[in-house]
Amino acid sequence: MVLFPKKPVRPSGAPRFPVVFVLGLAHCGSTMLGRMLGQHPRVLSVGELLRLGPALEQDFFCTCGQRMSQCSFWTARVQELERETGFDWRRFGVATFDRLAREAGREMAFDLSKTLVWRRTRWWLDRGEGYVFLVRDSRGVIASALRQDRDLERQLVKHVKWMERLTAYARRRGERALTLHYEDLCREPERELRRLCQFLGLEFTEGMLHPSRETVHLVHSSASGYLKNIDAIRLDERWRRDLDDGQRSRIEDAMEGLEVFRGRLERTTVAGKR
Ligand SMILES: [Zn+2]
Repeated sequence: MVLFPKKPVRPSGAPRFPVVFVLGLAHCGSTMLGRMLGQHPRVLSVGELLRLGPALEQDFFCTCGQRMSQCSFWTARVQELERETGFDWRRFGVATFDRLAREAGREMAFDLSKTLVWRRTRWWLDRGEGYVFLVRDSRGVIASALRQDRDLERQLVKHVKWMERLTAYARRRGERALTLHYEDLCREPERELRRLCQFLGLEFTEGMLHPSRETVHLVHSSASGYLKNIDAIRLDERWRRDLDDGQRSRIEDAMEGLEVFRGRLERTTVAGKR
């Protein structure tokens, strides 16, 4: 293991980063963002590559609609990836992402591994990667999570802990991290994608506004049918219907304490009232 690797020098005209990791929580809208970036001719959008091992073991669906064992994109690549990493998420380094992107004729890899990216910092020394912190309204995230685990208090504790962790993590990355709000991305997709492209050192392309136009092969991504095969950007605000007053009030109280929602939170309930 090299202890102090040099940061690779990017060729001029190349995107700013060889790989960009999306930080965020499950249900934050990252599949949509991954599909958008996947439409860019210079980007290879890979989904949650750090979770490739479990995705293969359980033969999940790739976003192309095939199972992993049938997807021609991944079946052509898994052998080499296994040799390189043993499918151990700690061993997926910049070089692996860079190679994948180049072999696909692209210049930047875009990964959606989210919380696992935070976990791997202690294993992986910084080699000049970029980060996008994708923030979705806590009410949307928790309403989705509650479909799997009905315990609101447990969800809230986990949610606040991770939001604080990721906020601090993104802040420490300084100008190598960009914060993006899911709701802004849905309401003003072109404005937000232009801002993102500027951060990435890429030109904006109109195709990004059509996230399902070209097939992308995202590992381990959302099975939610909400956006699947719909070539439109649609804001998912089912939480307005799915959460009762008490739940919303409890979540909104927690959101008041989170830095990323400062000046943005529009409460639907009175503070502190349950
Ligand atoms: Zn596929």
